[in-house]
Amino acid sequence: MFPEFTLRYARLPERFHVRFAPVPVPEPRLVAFNRPLAEELGFDLGAFDERQAADWFAGNALPEGADPIAQAYAGHQFGNFVPRLGDGRAVLLGEVRDRNGGLRDIQLKGAGCTPFSRGADGRAPLGPVLREYLISEGMHCLGVPSTRALAAVTTGERVFRRVPEPGAVLTRVAASHLRVGTFQYFAARGDLEAVRTLADMAIERHYPELAEIDATRRYLALVEAVQARQAALVAKWMGLGFIHGVMNTDNCAIAGETLDYGPCAFMEAYDARTVFSSIDEGGRYAYRNQPWIAQWNLARFAETLIPLIDDDQERAVERATEVIKRYEGQYEAEWLAVMRAKLGLAAEEEGDRQLAEDLLEALHAGRADFTLSFRRLAELAGDPQAEAPLLELFERDDPIRTWLPRWRERLAREGIEMADIATRMRAVNPLYIPRNHKVEEALAAAVEKDDFAPFEALREVLAEPFTEQPGREEYTLPAPPTERVFRTFCGT
Ligand code: AMP
Ligand code: MG
Repeated sequence: MFPEFTLRYARLPERFHVRFAPVPVPEPRLVAFNRPLAEELGFDLGAFDERQAADWFAGNALPEGADPIAQAYAGHQFGNFVPRLGDGRAVLLGEVRDRNGGLRDIQLKGAGCTPFSRGADGRAPLGPVLREYLISEGMHCLGVPSTRALAAVTTGERVFRRVPEPGAVLTRVAASHLRVGTFQYFAARGDLEAVRTLADMAIERHYPELAEIDATRRYLALVEAVQARQAALVAKWMGLGFIHGVMNTDNCAIAGETLDYGPCAFMEAYDARTVFSSIDEGGRYAYRNQPWIAQWNLARFAETLIPLIDDDQERAVERATEVIKRYEGQYEAEWLAVMRAKLGLAAEEEGDRQLAEDLLEALHAGRADFTLSFRRLAELAGDPQAEAPLLELFERDDPIRTWLPRWRERLAREGIEMADIATRMRAVNPLYIPRNHKVEEALAAAVEKDDFAPFEALREVLAEPFTEQPGREEYTLPAPPTERVFRTFCGT
């Protein structure tokens, strides 16, 4: 049933990884399985055997051809460089070729203590595993590049965090687990050959069009290409009110996927200063800082490639700096494109940026729910009488009342039917997002009562985020005051 492995990373020289078999667990039980993704990866589901699957996804049995390893990487954590992080509890089984011909990593997260564990337990609690499952799949369905969740198993063991919790393993699928931190690990050791190997692998797997470029330009082109994907990725996050929470360089994927769902959360009442993570005391990874942190991470990436960019090191730094500086313009353009779409605009006009920024100010002034405001704006485009459902989201509605006629005037210049504008707005402004209190509710039922029904229900709702689902209105609403989530904990 398991697709064939095409081993790539495991075949790199010794210093890239440590061979490490997952540590078996007492009682593997499959609690979630992603059939559509399994199909995409070429699993033969006709032969699906739940016991066998539980053993594989717990790491108790190795599928044929797997060559499990823990990957070496470094990273800047909250701005401080840590030269050796690595997979402290994750094991890469290998890569498989998906239906589109691309290689995908299959990784078990929570597979036991590796040589990179640094004193931690190598395990994962069920809550954070289900959280990553729900939110990463939610992001994918929202159209955001993301690692995916193939399966979750419980282990029959307890893991100790703030309180003891059932242990679990998540099977994570990624375009690759190459991170900025992987490059940093070798650059910090002066291992230029390894950096080149990684860069060539990144090009082959994620940016094959760059392989044609002359070697004197190729590695700078890689920086540019990674930068373009990061700019587009973060603009998408911003358009959904998503806050990653731990944008360390080891969580910044070269393929441009959202990687590592720890204390991440979706903002409800709009405030650009929002921070959820309890460990982010300085607000480094606040919503509004995300675009600039991505640029900071890209600068760290470019630094690792300096010796490959130009033989003249000063010249290399100059060339890389020129590229990194262009990020601002790229990000701004991506953001504006996201906002135009959210506002129902296809044409481009000078004043669009101001219009978008003023709407955000109105949302802030009114402490309005970010997601629902845009969705109800879509409804309002289709039905000019539908002002009340929008306005009721605002604690203070004078700024939004002043803004609405400006938007209507602008929409009129689009020159298409309002019903069509509403349709295209609904296609980019979700009705359902993984709201924190609903995620918490699903996790609590699973962890405390072994009840996976709320998890399953939420998973189903999040699979169709742009389509109204009758009878599921509660999933559209922000948390009632007593259930509001202000802090999320890493505790993963
Ligand atoms: P993260 O905060 O998940 O990005 O992880 C940062 C580093 O800590 C990585 O090297 C992880 O492998 C490691 N790590 C996180 N949790 C654990 C754990 N429970 N056991 C071992 N290593 C861990
Ligand atoms: Mg990480």
